[in-house]
Amino acid sequence: MPFKIALAGIGKIARDQHVPALAASADWELAATVSRHGTVEGVEAFDDFDTMLQARPDITVVSLCMPPVPRFDYAKAAIRAGRHVMLEKPPGATLSECHALEALARKAGVSIYASWHSREAAMVAPAKAWLAGKRLKSLVVTWKEDVRKWHPGQTWIWQAGGLGVFDPGINALSIVTEILADPIHVSASELLVPENCETPIAANIRFNHPHGAEVSAELDFRKEGDQFWNIAIETDQGSLVLSEGGATLSINGVVQSAATHDNALQGEYPRLYARMARLVRAGAIDMDLAPMAHVADAFLLGKRITVEAFVE
Ligand code: NAP
Repeated sequence: MPFKIALAGIGKIARDQHVPALAASADWELAATVSRHGTVEGVEAFDDFDTMLQARPDITVVSLCMPPVPRFDYAKAAIRAGRHVMLEKPPGATLSECHALEALARKAGVSIYASWHSREAAMVAPAKAWLAGKRLKSLVVTWKEDVRKWHPGQTWIWQAGGLGVFDPGINALSIVTEILADPIHVSASELLVPENCETPIAANIRFNHPHGAEVSAELDFRKEGDQFWNIAIETDQGSLVLSEGGATLSINGVVQSAATHDNALQGEYPRLYARMARLVRAGAIDMDLAPMAHVADAFLLGKRITVEAFVE
């Protein structure tokens, strides 16, 4: 029997990825949506979360796809109502609220999953396997995309808690924290904030690595033309480049996979939902907050530099 699930926050990512991934899976039945404006054809629609929780006790799992700031109240209500919860990335607006959700879920005996879709890109696991046992010399993240192309009209990104360029940048950090054997931490950070925005449009970060490897990240939302979602790594036994957000892997300059970009990324959400089904069956919790801790530290240490206003 599939699990009945409700999707809340029917926006870009719910439509592009969650709805198709659920429709293609035998584990899940999309039984309701909760959104003030969005609906999914053929699925019962609510515009109020508490009403859905009360009306549909048969729905045991909720997946929260709204932006991070409003997510906490939805997650708390769901856990209190005894539902299992899957969180889009980033799992919340602050680390403390994510810890609070995990504690609530443990007390209620429900599963909670802080999902990181980029970790499920096709070549992340092979990259991790290749790196195992090698000595890291350097790692450079280059995450440069055109915000006007990928986030049109998403004003929440520019408001406090919306993360600005860290909204995509946290995806890179989710991969880095997955593939590196040793923990790193932020040692310096520059945040370029448009004079009319509350969040950065670009950021430069350096990390401390326990064995002295050079680790840095350059994030930029102002990139037109070619787009870059790359992680370049040098080790004592050769080099590796993960590009296109983890869809493509080159080792010593040789591309390892014939998977197309689209195919390699298409698997991300099916794999996230397969993991959620396993967590619910096992009564388990997965709240890895490591990518978010790096973002929080980048904000804590960040030197703010005001740059020209962003006009969409
Ligand atoms: P979006 O299209 O702007 O918003 C998603 C939906 O959330 C909206 O349609 C809205 O639905 C609901 N929402 C917005 N503000 C709300 C509020 N204050 N309270 C309750 N609901 C609210 O954003 P998105 O691109 O789907 O991103 C949502 C999340 O998914 C973000 O955390 C993002 O990082 C993550 N994500 C996005 C992408 C992507 O490519 N866009 C990829 C991976 C992950 P209603 O107005 O109908 O309620």
